[in-house]
Amino acid sequence: MLEKCHSCGAETPPSPTGVTHAYLDASPGCWARYGEVLAREYANAQYFAVHSITVDAYSVQHPGHPTPQEINSLNLHLASLYAHYQKSGRAT
Ligand SMILES: [Zn+2]
Repeated sequence: MLEKCHSCGAETPPSPTGVTHAYLDASPGCWARYGEVLAREYANAQYFAVHSITVDAYSVQHPGHPTPQEINSLNLHLASLYAHYQKSGRAT
C-alpha cells in the first residue's frame, strides 16, 4: 500500500520509522525516498553533480509553515534554482 505525500503528491511506500524533516512538510515515506536519492548522490560523483538542484527542488516542493526560518529557506532555494537555470541559459 502506498501513501501520498501531501506536499508533492508522490506516492511512496510508508516509512517504517515515521521520521520526517523538522520544518519541511513532507510525508515520512517521501522523506525516506529523498534520503535514498541523497545516498545515491553521495555514492556516485556523476549523480552528485546535480546534488544542489535535488536539494533545492525538494525543499521548494515541500514548504513548511510560513515561519521566518521557512520563508528564508524557501527564498534561498528558489534563488539557487534561478541562478542555476539562469547560468545554464534556461531561465527567461
Ligand atoms: Zn513529497
